[in-house]
Formats: sequence, structure tokens, C-alpha cells
Amino acid sequence: MTTHTTRMLIVGSGPAGMSAAIYGARAGLKPIVVQGLQPGGQLTITTDVENYPGFRDVIQGPWLMEQMQAQAEHVGTRMLWDTIVSIDLSGRGEPGTAFRAIGDGGDIYEGETLVIATGAQAKWLGVPGEVELAGKGVSACATCDGFFYRGKRVAVIGGGNTAVEEALYLTNHSPEVTLIHRRDSLRAERILQDRLFAHPNIRVIWNKKVDSFLGDPLAGGLTGLALTDTVTGEASTHPTDGAFVAIGHAPATELFKGKLEMDPSGYLLVEPGTPKTAIPGVFACGDVMDPIYRQAVTAAGTGCMAALDAERFVAEREFAAHKVVQAAE
Ligand code: NDP
Repeated sequence: MTTHTTRMLIVGSGPAGMSAAIYGARAGLKPIVVQGLQPGGQLTITTDVENYPGFRDVIQGPWLMEQMQAQAEHVGTRMLWDTIVSIDLSGRGEPGTAFRAIGDGGDIYEGETLVIATGAQAKWLGVPGEVELAGKGVSACATCDGFFYRGKRVAVIGGGNTAVEEALYLTNHSPEVTLIHRRDSLRAERILQDRLFAHPNIRVIWNKKVDSFLGDPLAGGLTGLALTDTVTGEASTHPTDGAFVAIGHAPATELFKGKLEMDPSGYLLVEPGTPKTAIPGVFACGDVMDPIYRQAVTAAGTGCMAALDAERFVAEREFAAHKVVQAAE
């Protein structure tokens, strides 16, 4: 059991955490990044990235995160592979106190400032069969599990960017991809919709919600989906070998319940236009505080803002302490 101390403790290692680390390290705060269960964050489970500025050609999400990590380490960040299981914010940023987090192996992390960049996780439908058949035909990550459905029929549930990207990705493996959406129009970006509708191996089923996942977890796994038409109420069954749930994400804020203010969906609340939480010295950036934009580049931007504010916080506190010493002399 080790105690790690730093001027800037960053929890989470997606674009927000990495950008905070790069700025924090360059400001001399010697950041520690606790990487969490999914080092690199959501970009490590995507494939093509076409909208991160600076790259004319398509790049790969995992590659982009490797570059960010290498850059953060190069400028002086310590990257630690651990998952925070509890956190104590009672120091409330007072001089001489630290925010204290505990990792799942018992290591202690003490930060003079805390940057929360824990991101978001895929949501599940919460219908019968989903838990039982998870990993046996039901998944929330096409890029992780699509390979297992080579030559088989797959369905994607959802109508946003993630669902459309997953459906397009799955055509690399599957000859028959069905997108199932509860309404009659998609919310995905136009360019993605155009690609989806033009693809010969993708069919869209409109106005259907999934009532349950069918199949035996012990014998063969998923066999199909029980659907209900959201307009007519008619019930039907859609046979499939794999089903990918792509209905959005929920912020990873379990650790902060009762400690920091959140909106009804669990996103951390910050002072508008800043990454500042209600506790001085605690900053939130990236998807964990952003229910609207949720892009890699916006996460990186708010990570930068968090580091700049953390640096100011440390500098102001040092200045105040210096004045106290001078007054006493
Ligand atoms: P979204 O919130 O954008 O979309 C979720 C989709 O799932 C919606 O179509 C919604 O339906 C549907 N849905 C939600 N709950 C249910 C439910 N219980 N049953 C059935 N369907 C449901 O999430 P995404 O993950 O697609 O995207 C999140 C953010 O990340 C967005 O800002 C998106 O732009 C961004 N993103 C950007 C990418 C890129 O730029 N390349 C790639 C992936 C994501 P309804 O439409 O009826 O509400």
C-alpha cells in the first residue's frame, strides 16, 4: 500500500484527463493520472476518428489516445493504472489539506487539486435477457465484440451517432446488419445517416422498441429480439445472432454522489463556462460534466480549462500563504 501525493490528481484518462495532464505538467504541477477501468477512455473502443483537428486522414481512436498519453508522460505526468473506489473531498481545498482518493488495491492518492475526468459509460436498456445474455450475443461495443459475429446477423439498437457508427462498423464483419430505432428518424449527423442509408448490407427497422432479448445463455446464447411497434403496438420477433445496444451514455459519477452537485441525469454541475465545481480546488471536465457536446475535442478543451484553473488555484493559495508569512515576520 503506497501513498502518492501530487499537486494535481487527475481521475480518468480520456481526452479530458490527458489534456489536463499535459497542461498541468507543463505548469509544474507534476500531475498523477489514475487511469481507471478503461485506460484511454471511450476513444479506445472506437475505430475511425475523422473529426479530431490536426489530421487530414482518418486516424484510429486507440492510436490517438496512445499519442495523448505519450505526450502527457513526456512532459512529466505519472500515469498509474488503478481504479479509484472512494474519494474524500472533506478537505474542501483549505490550505494544508488534500483531496484523498483510494484505489482498489488500497493505494492512497492525495492531490492538492483534483481534476475529475471520469467520462461516461454506455447505457443499457434494462429489459429482460439483457444481463443474462451479455457477452452471449448482447454487447454495447461493436468495435470490441463485432469480430465474434463474422458472417452472422447482427442488430444495433439506437438512433444516434454511436448506433449509426456501430452499424457501419459491423458491416466489416457481418453481411446482414439491422438498425432498430424507436422513432421514424435518426438523431445521428447527416453525413453518417447518408452512409448508413447508402450501405447495401444495412436495413433500418423504424418505430420498434426492444422488450426483451431472447435465447438461452447456457445453450447458444441470443437468438432474437422481442419487439413492439411504438406506433401500432403490434408485437413481433426479430431473429439475430448478435445485438449491440447503442442508446447513449451515462456519466461515471457514482464516486461523487452526495459529495458534489449533479443534474438529474448524474452529470456533475460546474460554474457555467468553467470546470469549477462547488468545492474550491475540485474541477470537472469532459463527458462527466458535459451532457450536450460530448466530443473528444470538447473534452480535451475542458481538460485544458481544468488544468489552467487548477494552476491558478495553487498559485493563489501559495500567494496567500506567502503574504501570511510576510505579515508574521
Ligand atoms: P445519443 O444520446 O445521441 O443517442 C442515443 C440514441 O439512443 C437516440 O437515438 C435515442 O432515441 C436512443 N435511445 C435512448 N434511450 C433508448 C431506449 N431506452 N430505448 C431505445 N432507444 C433509446 O447517444 P450517442 O451515444 O449516439 O451519442 C452521444 C454523443 O456522442 C452525441 O453528442 C454524439 O454526437 C457524440 N458522438 C459523436 C461521434 C462522432 O462525432 N463521430 C461518434 C459517437 C458519438 P431518440 O432519438 O428517440 O431519443
